[in-house]
Amino acid sequence: MNCPKCKNPIEDNAAFCQWCGAVVDNSVIENQENDFEYVIKNMLTNTKYDDVVQYYKETTGKNTEESKYEVSRLDYFRTHEFADETAWQKYYEEYQENRKSIDNSIQIIGWILFIIIAIFLAIGIIVSVLSGFRII
Ligand SMILES: [Zn+2]
Repeated sequence: MNCPKCKNPIEDNAAFCQWCGAVVDNSVIENQENDFEYVIKNMLTNTKYDDVVQYYKETTGKNTEESKYEVSRLDYFRTHEFADETAWQKYYEEYQENRKSIDNSIQIIGWILFIIIAIFLAIGIIVSVLSGFRII
């Protein structure tokens, strides 16, 4: 976490800031974090998902994957009023599974196309050879 006064990084649950000596009230910091979650949830109602992720990334300094995860998580809690962590984890795992099966389907379609093209090429070569066509 960061010092609420000088914004330098300090240890979690530190009572004083090691940089400026300010007394750190952890409940204030917790509220600031909740305010940030509130801002993100609010943004999600009227801003494109990718733009919210970008904003989250720039504000927190987290990487794209982490930011996507956190924004998706906040979006889930925003749209599911009575959801808890267990429900979110279940939803996220199912989402990951679906993504994986879509990726697999795309891969299978790719292979089928490749085989069809290979068969046509083979037929073309066989027909050419049988009809006396010389490549060289
Ligand atoms: Zn400080």
